[in-house]
Amino acid sequence: MALNDPTLRNQVIVLQDGYSRQEDGDESTMRANCTCTLVRCRDGTNVIVDTMTAWDGEHLRSLLGEHGLGVEDIQVVVCSHGHSDHIGSNYLFQKARMHLVGACASHRDLYMNHFGSGEQNEELALDSNAEVIVRRSPGHTLSCVSVIVDNSQLGGRVGITGDLFERSEDIDDESIWKDAGSESEKLQRAERNKMAHICDFIVPGHGPLFPVTPSMRSKLKEDASSA
Ligand SMILES: [Zn+2]
Repeated sequence: MALNDPTLRNQVIVLQDGYSRQEDGDESTMRANCTCTLVRCRDGTNVIVDTMTAWDGEHLRSLLGEHGLGVEDIQVVVCSHGHSDHIGSNYLFQKARMHLVGACASHRDLYMNHFGSGEQNEELALDSNAEVIVRRSPGHTLSCVSVIVDNSQLGGRVGITGDLFERSEDIDDESIWKDAGSESEKLQRAERNKMAHICDFIVPGHGPLFPVTPSMRSKLKEDASSA
């Protein structure tokens, strides 16, 4: 495969759909794991977004193996935020040039100044075509980030948003994302609206990928303006 072939698309591959639900018979506990996504950029860069819990390492290895990849083939690890179910298997990716946890970028003990500008709309390109970028999407936590993939095989722009969206059902039922915790409901509503308007598909933090519909956009716009 020729790298950077203009006929290629960036591939967004959801390795595992996340979930979150109350534990059966015990209302005080939850079962949750994140949606884990692989982005195979057309320049050959491989990015993994959200690495599940620390107990999922071998499982994640085998999921990558199904796509002909080993853990050493991942160049960038992005965690939408620092909660344990989104960062747990980062340790697998020792060959990656960068681990980005929320807005904090590092390699081994070296911490880089990405997202240090204080600019809310700072963007960080992960591929040489600048088609796969990271930006801040505060709400669930104030340092949350999302990955935006242009020129994808799905035929539109994909937002891999972490817990900005818990799952598609949280558009009709706000209690789903609020109950998952929000450090700023106001910012989260604004970001949900923004992301739904610039993306054609969303990969949420704890559910399957979904296409963004016109009715979802108008509901999110209403939520953002009424708050
Ligand atoms: Zn989460």
